[in-house]
Amino acid sequence: MTATATPSPTIIDLERLNSLNKEGCAACGHKFNLGDPVVMACGAWEGGPRLIHAYEAVRDPVSGGYVEKRCYNTRRGRIG
Ligand SMILES: [Zn+2]
Repeated sequence: MTATATPSPTIIDLERLNSLNKEGCAACGHKFNLGDPVVMACGAWEGGPRLIHAYEAVRDPVSGGYVEKRCYNTRRGRIG
């Protein structure tokens, strides 16, 4: 595994479901379902990367990691 590799989406299992659904998804606020693909992504929330629904994240070509869509668009708007 290299530093530039983008992690594949994680599939929610029962253990993750139980721990993640205490707070739900940081991006949409909804609970996760068993089998949902999730990714570790940066976003506008406090405290660093969180697991969110994969379809709510985009891959940042600069960092190679995932960023929550709204956050990514905001950043792009500011910079570019
Ligand atoms: Zn979500």
